[in-house]
Amino acid sequence: MDDDASRRTFELLANETRLGIISALGEASGEGGYATLAFSELQAATGVEDNGQFNYHLQKLVDEFVEEREGGYALTLAGIRAYQAILARVRSESLSIDPFEIDGTCRCGEPRHAWYEDSRGHIGCLSCGDLEFRYPVAPNAIDESEPDTLLNALNRKLTRDYLSMFNGICPYCTGRSTVRLAESEEFYDEVGMTSTPVNVHAACESCAWFLYANIAAVLILSPPVYSFIEERGIDMWNEYIWQEILDHEVTDIQWEPQRVEGTFSLAGDELRYVLDADFRLRDYEIVTDE
Ligand SMILES: [Zn+2]
Ligand SMILES: [Zn+2]
Repeated sequence: MDDDASRRTFELLANETRLGIISALGEASGEGGYATLAFSELQAATGVEDNGQFNYHLQKLVDEFVEEREGGYALTLAGIRAYQAILARVRSESLSIDPFEIDGTCRCGEPRHAWYEDSRGHIGCLSCGDLEFRYPVAPNAIDESEPDTLLNALNRKLTRDYLSMFNGICPYCTGRSTVRLAESEEFYDEVGMTSTPVNVHAACESCAWFLYANIAAVLILSPPVYSFIEERGIDMWNEYIWQEILDHEVTDIQWEPQRVEGTFSLAGDELRYVLDADFRLRDYEIVTDE
């Protein structure tokens, strides 16, 4: 990474007036697109009275975060990204949702719970301490007075990131992500999550974003398993990824080279698969209960 360029980016943003300009342009935008504000409108929205001082800060942002166009000023793509980061930060600092009961039971037999804490959504069990899902979710779409909005936001975020990362593309920087099977106890211990015998790890080669996931939760989104579920009358797009739609069992694991055999069961039918190191579900058979 270019140190000078990234230092410049942070220096440009380390100023309240400049953050105010980016926020004002973002807030003035709506469904139809990003707003263009005339100099005087932008100055009023930012709340800086001194023309010279306001113009000084605005010019610092021009070309990088703000562009001048007919009718005034608008956010560039980098400006939009900065605005999204400001929004996520402002809201996540104030948002927390206490654990509430959700559908399904933990393997200890007690109800599962969901909660929001440290900018992350969590799915787990308060009785035995099992933590099944823990993932960052921007708070923008979450309403504290309607906890179900947390479930929807967490589900959408997990679905998007799993589909993207496990198909080789980082959703944050569009870099290449690599996927492998992992025992991963170390990571799970560190964050207090419940490890399963085999987990899947995906990591971005460019920005180092990574995630660990339960193998069943990732495979549920793969075309063969998705169709298997759909043919039995359930549309996964209307279900939460953590819902126990079908049973899953890992029947064999090899680490060198990596290979997993497992079975999904639903309504008396089975989908038996073999997965190798490239993490593409090609080798499978459906055994129906007839
Ligand atoms: Zn439990
Ligand atoms: Zn990345």
